[in-house]
Parts: sequence; structure tokens; C-alpha cells
Amino acid sequence: MSNYPLLINGESVTGDETLDVINPANEKVLATCSRASEAQLNQAVQAAKTAYETWSTESIDTRKAVVSAIADVLEANATELAQILTQEQGKPLADATGEVHGTAAFFRYFTSLNLDVKVLDDSDNRKVELHRKPLGVVAAIMPWNFPLLLLGFKLPAALIAGNTVVLKTAPTTPLSALRLGELIKDVVPKGVVNIIADANDLGGTLTAHPDVRKVSFTGSSGTGSKVMSSAATLLKRITLELGGNDAGIVLDDANPKEIAAKVFQGAFWNSGQVCAALKRLYVHESIYDEMVEELSTIANETTIGDGLEQGVGLGPLQNKMQFEKVKEILAEAAEQGTITAGGEVPDQAGYFIRPTIVRDIAEGTRLVDEEQFGPVLPVIKFSDDADALKRANDCVWGLTGSIWSSNIDRAYKLANDMDAGTVTINTHAALDPSIPFGGSKQSGIGTELGEHGLHEFTQLKVINIAR
Ligand code: NAD
Repeated sequence: MSNYPLLINGESVTGDETLDVINPANEKVLATCSRASEAQLNQAVQAAKTAYETWSTESIDTRKAVVSAIADVLEANATELAQILTQEQGKPLADATGEVHGTAAFFRYFTSLNLDVKVLDDSDNRKVELHRKPLGVVAAIMPWNFPLLLLGFKLPAALIAGNTVVLKTAPTTPLSALRLGELIKDVVPKGVVNIIADANDLGGTLTAHPDVRKVSFTGSSGTGSKVMSSAATLLKRITLELGGNDAGIVLDDANPKEIAAKVFQGAFWNSGQVCAALKRLYVHESIYDEMVEELSTIANETTIGDGLEQGVGLGPLQNKMQFEKVKEILAEAAEQGTITAGGEVPDQAGYFIRPTIVRDIAEGTRLVDEEQFGPVLPVIKFSDDADALKRANDCVWGLTGSIWSSNIDRAYKLANDMDAGTVTINTHAALDPSIPFGGSKQSGIGTELGEHGLHEFTQLKVINIAR
């Protein structure tokens, strides 16, 4: 059995300290893993800095071979990694298995991209070339909702571009990434990938480290703002994927029966702990009652429980802090609106909240105005499309949004005016490694995934030859 070591300079290293990881389905200690000291963080950055000298000069095909080899490792060990993921994060085993294979697919996607030199001008007077060079040591900082999938947003792109990486796990979900580190130790050149765990105490140090040239961060907007301040001192590159309060707008010509399952999935996947989850649902008054009823039926039929058990649709909240926050928001919402499904916090161990639908609620309440990041969905009534759009846009975040309608032209107009990094029609979020993903306003800076996501790990360089 693994004792979950750190990965530093190609070696499995026992942490100078330890960290207890809680299984959110039963609140018991699942494992005690390695926790890095500041000295070990510095060793990881030094290893990445040294490895960069060689790795950055390798051909892109050599780098792709390593990224493919990591994908192979993920797939070959999917059963074990999914078990760990379910137990540390809480998600049902089928979702965890999907996450491991999805992560492998993200690694493979990036191997399909290239960074060819682009010739901007080739005339009698000059030849101008555009190159994309690596940046150096990248710090990749992870949240707790998708401990492996989000690693697939950062690691393959950083590596293919020629950077080396120090990845820091989230303090409550370090195990799957640490185990992956152990498994890839012999397929990645030493120092190219380093994986460390902390107790929420090393993020600032890693971000501020003078040898880190770029920070790729996923987490809350508050911490993202700290990352940006810290990176400002040495003008480091940053990509910030932050929070959201994503709105869905259901127009009067949508069919609640047809769309309810997809809307529910958009809002409740991963127990609502998704940056791009549907977090506010605006529904036209003419179909409001029907939509609420359809969603409530699905919520009532959903089984919650330990993700390792068969037939569980939703797992617990990932950690106690989040559990307490969602319970508080739920208690307020019960006073401010009408709960039509869920609302209960089962009297059992584990951070469980039943999927909850709240109707007759509007702006001015925490459930509508804040990012709940949990399985509680407010359904808000509207009578005029333009007004719904204005209310959806009146938000400090703008990660994703969705429009639901049987008339695509009508939906398209609203989608075009919605202020968000991604707007989907008749589906929500629809993540794909080939589609760039990033937020507007306080949802982030920069882009992950797709060719744009690869380019974020590069420095543009022009070579201009006079003739
Ligand atoms: P968080 O901001 O608390 O923590 C994220 C990571 O930052 C952790 O690894 C943490 O240890 C680290 N950290 C803490 N202080 C730091 C500092 N000063 N400098 C650098 N790193 C530091 O977020 P969380 O609670 O883990 O995740 C939930 C939040 O993340 C939600 O708001 C959610 O919307 C957001 N999220 C966004 C996306 C996206 O792609 N936009 C994806 C997943 C989660």
C-alpha cells in the first residue's frame, strides 16, 4: 500500500511532515500522507529549474511521448486511482472512473497540438518568424473538486510547451495526485514533474518563489487575487481559473420534461462542486411550475451516499468547511424561498446534503447572489427575456452560462449578449479538452484547454531577419 510520498526530482520522497486526509463520506481518517516542508518545496523548485535546462531543449515529439506515457499510466491504473479519488473527494465511483479516463484523454489531446514556427512575412526585405518558447518552472496549484481532471488542464500543456512543473495539491484531496506521482516516477525525466502536498500553508510561498516563472491556479476568486498580487512583484505570468455563479435561462418555448435531466446534471454534477456548475436557474413564468416540478422529481429520485456504494448518484460535500457554508446558505434560503425537494441534512456521519430545489427566491439572498458550490439550486421566475439576461449578467463573475430554448436563433441572440467565457445552448458547460475554457470578470484571467490553453504556457518570440 502506498504511503503517498511526494515526487521530487524523480524520487518518491517522504514528507518532512504528514497530513491526515478525511473521507467525507464517513468523516474518518482515510490515510496519512506526506506533507512538504518549505525546504522540500524549495528542493522541488530547484529540481524543476535544473530539469528545465534539458527538457526545454527536447523536441516536441520527445515531450509528447512523455505526456502520452502519463496518459498510459492513468489508464493502466484507473481502477486504483478512481477508488482513491472517490474516497478522498466523495464523488461516486462511476464519476471518479470517468474522471481518471477523462484526465488521460486530456493528456492525449495535448499531444495532438504543435508549436510550429509561424512565418509572418517572407518578402524581399525581410523574413519575420513567430516562435513560441517555454517559460521555465510552472507552479500548478489545485483545488479539491477535481483533483485529477484539473491536473489534466495544466500538466500536459505545460510539459508539451517545454516547461517543468511543481504541482501543489489541495490540502483535503492530495492522495490521487500523490499516487499518480509515484506511478509516473519512472516515465518522466527526473525533475520535470514534481508533486507536493501541503496543509494550505505553502501556496503563497510557491507563488512567490523567485524561480517560478508562471502560476497556473484553479481555486477561489479570493485566493486568485492573492496569487495575482504575489505574481506582480516579479511580473510572473498567471492563468487564473476561479469561481462562478453561472446562470441558466429557460425560455418560454423550452420543454421542461425534455431538458430537466440535463439542467439537473449541469447544476448537481459533483454535488454542485463545479466551478462551471449551473448555480442560478432563471425560468419563464409560463413554464415555471412545470420546470420546478420536473427538477424536484429528479432530486427526490437521486440516491445520496458513500460513492463506493452501488447506485449512488451524488456523494457528500468534499470537506467540513464547505459543508458548513452550504448548510448556512440552505438555512437562510429555507426562510427566503420555498423548498420543493431536499433541504435535509441527513442525521448520519459524512458531509451529506440532499439535492435541493428552492423556488420563489430571487436576488438579494445568499443562495442567488453568492457561489453556493453545493447541491442547492435556486429557481428564479422571470417574465421578460431581456430582464432575465440583465439579471444573469448583473454578477461579479462570468465563467459559463446557458440558454434553453427550442428556437436556436432566439437562444443565440441571448447567448451572444451573455457576459461569460462560455455560453452553451440546450446544455450546460460541456467541457472538452479541445475547447478553450476561461472566465470573464472575476472568474479568472487567461484560458485553459485548446490551442489557447497550450499557448498560455509559452512566451511569444519574434525573429526578424532583414534582407
Ligand atoms: P482555494 O482558493 O481555497 O484553494 C485553491 C488552492 O489554492 C489550494 O491548493 C490552496 O492550498 C491554495 N492556496 C491557498 N492559499 C494560497 C495562496 N495564498 N497562494 C497560492 N495558493 C494558495 O479554493 P478551493 O476551496 O480549493 O476550491 C473551490 C473554489 O475553486 C471555488 O470558488 C470554485 O469555483 C473554484 N474553482 C474554479 C475552477 C475553474 O476552472 N474556474 C475549477 C474548480 C474550482
